[in-house]
Amino acid sequence: MFGRLRTIRLKKSPFKRKHHHVHTEEIVKLRDFFLSLWKKRPHYCTVCGAYLGTEPHSYNFHHIIGKRFQSEYSIDITYNEKNIILVCLDCHSSIENGFLPPSLQKLKTELLRIYSAFRK
Ligand SMILES: [Zn+2]
Repeated sequence: MFGRLRTIRLKKSPFKRKHHHVHTEEIVKLRDFFLSLWKKRPHYCTVCGAYLGTEPHSYNFHHIIGKRFQSEYSIDITYNEKNIILVCLDCHSSIENGFLPPSLQKLKTELLRIYSAFRK
């Protein structure tokens, strides 16, 4: 019974509501950002050159330096165009599985060098 009360209180917490609100805004912001990149760039995979089609998918966008590292930097790396590449589903999967092609490794090293000036 105590546990149930605690659950109800948590659900009504204004912090949680606010947090959820921010979370949704971030998703919309990121989607808009990806869409703007999609309109600017050629629709081909940066790694293998495959044609990506006419409609963008979330898997077509890859952060070279992961969003999870944002808190380590004083500049915005999440919405930095240099930090995003367009990729096909297969190449995105390979990258997520730890295979970084040499061309991307070079790009990542260069970005890390530039961003290092903005490490907290
Ligand atoms: Zn590809």
